[in-house]
Amino acid sequence: MILINFLHVGIDDTDSPEGMCTTFLASQIINQLKENNVSIDGFPRLIRLNPFARHKTRGNGGVSFKIPLDNDIELAKEIILNAVGELSMFECDNTNPGVVFYEGEITSEMVDYAFKAIYEIITIDEAENFANKIGAEIHKFKKGRGIIGSIAAISLPLEDFTYELLAYRDKSKYGTERNIVRESVYRMDEETYPETFENIDYAEGYMAIEPKTPCPVLYGIRSNTVDALKKAFEMVEVEEDIVDCQIYKTNQHTDMHIQKADSIDQLRKFGCYEIIGTVKTLPKIIAGGHMFFHVADETGSIECGAYEPTKGFRKYVEDLRPGDVLRLFGGINENNTFNIEKFQLLEMNDVEYKNPLCKCGKRMTSAGKGKGFKCKKCGYKIKNNDKVEFKIDRNLEEGSFYETPVSARRHLSKPLCRMGFE
Ligand code: ATP
Repeated sequence: MILINFLHVGIDDTDSPEGMCTTFLASQIINQLKENNVSIDGFPRLIRLNPFARHKTRGNGGVSFKIPLDNDIELAKEIILNAVGELSMFECDNTNPGVVFYEGEITSEMVDYAFKAIYEIITIDEAENFANKIGAEIHKFKKGRGIIGSIAAISLPLEDFTYELLAYRDKSKYGTERNIVRESVYRMDEETYPETFENIDYAEGYMAIEPKTPCPVLYGIRSNTVDALKKAFEMVEVEEDIVDCQIYKTNQHTDMHIQKADSIDQLRKFGCYEIIGTVKTLPKIIAGGHMFFHVADETGSIECGAYEPTKGFRKYVEDLRPGDVLRLFGGINENNTFNIEKFQLLEMNDVEYKNPLCKCGKRMTSAGKGKGFKCKKCGYKIKNNDKVEFKIDRNLEEGSFYETPVSARRHLSKPLCRMGFE
């Protein structure tokens, strides 16, 4: 048996809202490595971490790749460190790159660390101590916060995974409108969905493959398979140069951030969960268009939120009623509100109890406590105190899932099309 060992490389926190993208930087590095006869093994990885991390630029993603140890490792390290030093957005306070080199097997404590970086919040000191413990070589630029995500990007196992193809623009185009032929994206979606997904937000009528920021990415297409990505790439027409293109293996859209919780009292701030609860209050919309309601179980209750950017999803939420039993997927924000990403209506309460109808057709009123009902119109009285069950029409369907639209979906959220549902 030939045992190939690797130099694992993790890179994170190189970009800012004004520019750059760690995936582009890594792609530039991989090109330079190839030019210097240094090969990488398999696809580079784009790993999304805790969506509630405070210092994230956008989607809290770190990048990693593997270099077989029979390459010129010292040259590889030099190329990587020089590129991060030259291309990162250092002028932004919030950009604190970290590069991590690690040789050897991924151990179970590294896997635990990676899941902790998805489920919880980690400090720079904690990451540094962990790197020392496992014998990883860390390089901190400025505060070096990126080492937190870099170690996780190296360590996370990918049982379920997807791919993203990223096409990059010419530098002269950064910050300008992207020239993507809209109709070609619709055609691509028609031909390749559901093997590719998140291409278009049909409800809002916009191309989700196109970023809204001035970063180097022209577009990104997400898929279950590399073949579907290749087909999609051929179909999308653009009217500007693509200077580079890279396929990443990712944990995007796998629900890897979701932990199964048995009860509401187990939920913790900045964690993401699947939880079953019963609706206790009618959803209410507040100024700004955000919608809130409460769910409870025998251990407690929690406020749930569907925010304005989730647009049409709030229509489904609005239809919820006390007594509905839900399987909720989402995360606890800084206000201890559960941000809903999707829900399944497990049991629908479609029954309402009302006063009985009188034989004259008028709804009866109470005749006093324990005295039955009386009709104000014709004076008819009954002694029975029981209200009558009425079936009410509901717009939701028992058993069905409802998800936020593409435009508001988290990178880690598993869309229904990947769960085998439409
Ligand atoms: P982009 O998506 O545009 O690449 P980003 O949203 O990934 O940007 P970064 O610039 O990478 O944002 O910043 C995120 C920072 O948060 C990094 O320094 C990363 O190390 C750190 N980080 C990642 N996970 C955690 C965590 N669980 N706890 C604390 N910090 C984290």
